[in-house]
Amino acid sequence: MRNNVLIIGAGPAGYTAAIYAARANLDPILFEGSAPGGQLMITTDVENYPGFPVGVQGPEMMMLFRQQAERFGTRIVTDTIDRVDFSERPFKVWDSRNQLHEAQSIIIATGASAIWLGIEAEMRLQGRGVSACATCDGFFFRGKDVIVVGGGDTAMEEANFLANLCHSVTVVHRRDQLRASKIMQQRAFDNPKISFVWNAAVEDILDEGTGAVTSVRLRDTQTGEISERPTDGVFIAIGHKPTTSLFKGQLELDAAGYIVTRDGTRTSVEGVFASGDVQDSVYRQAITAAGTGCMAAIDAERWLAAQHAGDTASV
Ligand code: NDP
Repeated sequence: MRNNVLIIGAGPAGYTAAIYAARANLDPILFEGSAPGGQLMITTDVENYPGFPVGVQGPEMMMLFRQQAERFGTRIVTDTIDRVDFSERPFKVWDSRNQLHEAQSIIIATGASAIWLGIEAEMRLQGRGVSACATCDGFFFRGKDVIVVGGGDTAMEEANFLANLCHSVTVVHRRDQLRASKIMQQRAFDNPKISFVWNAAVEDILDEGTGAVTSVRLRDTQTGEISERPTDGVFIAIGHKPTTSLFKGQLELDAAGYIVTRDGTRTSVEGVFASGDVQDSVYRQAITAAGTGCMAAIDAERWLAAQHAGDTASV
């Protein structure tokens, strides 16, 4: 079946693109994957999304976004797109049953995910002291002692942000040198609330039966010595991974794998647009993802209208 707009991904960007495309009478189809909602599904309280003065649970917010997209006629398919061919128009994509779908334009909103350490307690204690987003969750740790894991720009940015809210911030890094840019390093070194534990890997996050983080178990990467350090929160800041393996060789990606967009949400292939965290390594917020989802729908609508005008002119 040929579609005007086919949206891949169902976080704030994908659903917002669907709302706008549906209201522009473009009859969008949205493939929401097998685990719709994106990173907000593992977020408990969202308190920084305007319009929710008392906050909202991440999964509930995504359900509301989905309902709004459906209300205007978006066809939502609970399936993944496993293969794409953007080499000619109409664009071709294949779902998990290898069924072909064609579209005049595509909006990619497949998002990104935080890279985790891979220890069991990390998942179990998410929302109970473990987080990968200081901007989202830092507020819950006002006046408390927290740990930031990582040595890159993200870790420094998280540490500096948290230092404004928390009693103390300890950066735990597996080496004795930071990877972060010099200016970000200096800012952290100059902050009296931020201290560093070098050559340390987080072996485990402990809750002592309370159901909330109480300490971390550290291993000295030089000596192998094990120690425990009390903390109220652990922010994992060891990088993010955009969901772009599907688009390798089809679209221009940057060195970190994010889709390169120019002039709004345009990708390197005309008629293919990208929105949300899949093209944003900087802001990574639900509100910015929704904003670029809106932009992608408007960009697609205008691009389709220009194509249609061209077709009509050439008749
Ligand atoms: P990076 O890949 O730059 O850094 C990841 C950090 O996490 C490294 O210090 C790495 O250690 C550490 N790490 C990785 N895996 C593990 C692990 N399993 N256990 C313990 N530590 C681990 O990622 P960032 O997210 O910091 O940055 C990504 C990109 O985004 C960079 O290009 C950065 O410059 C950019 N950025 C820019 C910002 C700005 O300019 N304001 C803000 C945030 C990001 P090691 O050093 O030993 O490899």
